[in-house]
Amino acid sequence: MNNIEFPKEIIHCQNMIGGNWKTGSGEKIEVYSPYNGKVVGEINSATAKEVNDAIELANEASKKWAHTPLKERTQVMFNFRQILMRDIDKISNMVSLESGKTLGEAKAGVLKGIEVLEFALSVQNLDQGGKMEVSRGVYCEYRREALGVVASITPFNFPAMVPMWTIPIAIVLGNSYVWKPSEKTPLTSTLIADSLKEAGLPDGVMTVLNGSAEVVNAIIDHKHVKAVGFVGSSKIAKLVYQRASNHGKRALCLGGAKNHIVLLPDATPEMAGVGIADSFTGCAGQRCMAASVLLAVGDTSKQIEAIKQRAIETTCGDKMGALITKEQYDFLNGAIDEAVKEGATLLLDGRGQKATEKEYEGGYWLGATILDNVNPNATASKKELFGPILSIVRVKNISEAMEVENANEYGNACSVFTNNGAMAEIVATKAKAGMVGINIGVPVPREPFSFGGINESKFGFGDITGANSLNFWSDIKKVTTKWTMQNDHNWMS
Ligand code: NAD
Repeated sequence: MNNIEFPKEIIHCQNMIGGNWKTGSGEKIEVYSPYNGKVVGEINSATAKEVNDAIELANEASKKWAHTPLKERTQVMFNFRQILMRDIDKISNMVSLESGKTLGEAKAGVLKGIEVLEFALSVQNLDQGGKMEVSRGVYCEYRREALGVVASITPFNFPAMVPMWTIPIAIVLGNSYVWKPSEKTPLTSTLIADSLKEAGLPDGVMTVLNGSAEVVNAIIDHKHVKAVGFVGSSKIAKLVYQRASNHGKRALCLGGAKNHIVLLPDATPEMAGVGIADSFTGCAGQRCMAASVLLAVGDTSKQIEAIKQRAIETTCGDKMGALITKEQYDFLNGAIDEAVKEGATLLLDGRGQKATEKEYEGGYWLGATILDNVNPNATASKKELFGPILSIVRVKNISEAMEVENANEYGNACSVFTNNGAMAEIVATKAKAGMVGINIGVPVPREPFSFGGINESKFGFGDITGANSLNFWSDIKKVTTKWTMQNDHNWMS
C-alpha cells in the first residue's frame, strides 16, 4: 500500500455559494492531519448573512431543478459517477489526509458512497409512482415531488461516504442540497462539490457551508430549508432533531453507537479472529458500526486468542489509521486507565505504539487494545469510546448476553459469531439494534438495503439510504382526475 501524500501548501477550503467558491468571512478554523499532527488546511466559517444568501440562491436553483425531468437529473448523476471513479485515488488521499483512515479504508468508503449513487441512478427505473381507476372515469395517481432546499450535516469520520449516503438520492429527487461538512474534515467537500459541477449540476443545486454549531443552527432555522439530515454523535443528533422539529421540519438524525458482538464457543476461530479484530480496529475504531463490546459466552479462549493475534498484526500506520485529534488521543489513553481502575484486565495494551512509517511521526496513534473481564456496568462497557478498544464482558449464556446488549441505550449494530443457526436467530430476533450481523463483524447493509439504527442511535423516522430513504427526501402528491361526465354518478364522480 502506498503512503498518503501530504499537500505542499495549506489547502484553503471555501464555501460553495451559487456554484462559486467563496472564502467565508467568519472564524478561521485549522484542519490538522491525524497522520502527523500538522495543519494541512483551513476554513473560514460562513457568517449568518452568507448562510442566508447561499440558501436563497439554493432555493432559486431548486425551482428549476425540481422541474427538470428525472431522467435528465439522473444523467448528471451518471456523469458524477464517472468523475468519482476517475478521481477515486485523489479523493481517497484527501479522505485519509484529513480523517486518519488508511488509503484502503478511504477508498472503500468512497466506493460505498458510489454504491448509494448507483441506487440513486436506479430510482428512474424503480419508482414509477402508481395510477389506477378508482371510480368510473376517475383516476388517482401518486407523484413524487422534490421538497425544495434540504440540508445535511455530516461527521468527521467518513468525509466522503456519509455525505454520499444522501447527496445522490436527495439531488436525483430534485432537491437543492446544502451541506455542512465537519469542521475537522472539510477538505473532501471541495472535491465532491467540484465533481458535481463538472458533471453538469446547475449552480446552486449543491451548496457547501463550512463552520460549526452556529452555521448548523442558521441552516436549520432558515425558512427555505425543508428537511434536515444529520449524522454525528447522539448528543448533537438529538439537539439537531429537536431544533428542526420545533420548526415543524422533518429531520432524520443518526447518532452514536456502542455495538456488541456475541461470541459463542462453537464459532470458527479463524473467522471470528479476523471478523472481530477487523471490526474494532478498522478505521481505528472510529466508525459507528465498529465492534466495541465482546460478549464472550462460556469458553471462547481459542477465538479470543485469534482475535488478539490478528489485532497484534494490525499495526499503526500501514494497517491501522490514526485518531482524529490529540484530544481524542488523550481521552482514550485516560479511558484505558479508568477501565483498569474499574476492574478490567489488559489483554492487549496499544498505548505508546507508534506508526510504522517515519513520516507519520507526530500523528495521533493508539494501537489495538483489548480489555478483558470488563464489568457490564463499567464505563468501557457503556460509553461510546470511538477508538480501537475492545471490551470483553464475560457472560454465562446467551440470555445473559442479550440482557447486557438490550440494556445498552444505543441501537446501531449487533453481531453474533457461531455455527449454530438457532443461536444466531436468537440474536437476530432479540438484539435491540437496527442492523444485525451473523458472522459479519461490520454489518453494514449493502444497497438497496437501507442503513439506520434505532434507540439513541437514531432520532427521526426512516433510514438514511436505500429504498427507505426516498420518502424522507420527497413528498408524495396524490392527484385525482376526471375528464368526462359519467351518467351513473356516485359520490366521487
Ligand atoms: P459530532 O456530533 O461532534 O459532529 C457532527 C456534526 O455536528 C459536525 O458537522 C459538527 O460541526 C456539528 N456540530 C457539532 N456540535 C454541534 C452543535 N452544538 N450544534 C449543531 N451542530 C453541531 O460528531 P463527530 O465527532 O464529527 O462524529 C463522530 C460521531 O458520529 C460518533 O458518535 C459516531 O458514532 C457518529 N456517527 C454515526 C453514524 C451513524 O450512522 N449512526 C455514522 C458516522 C458517525
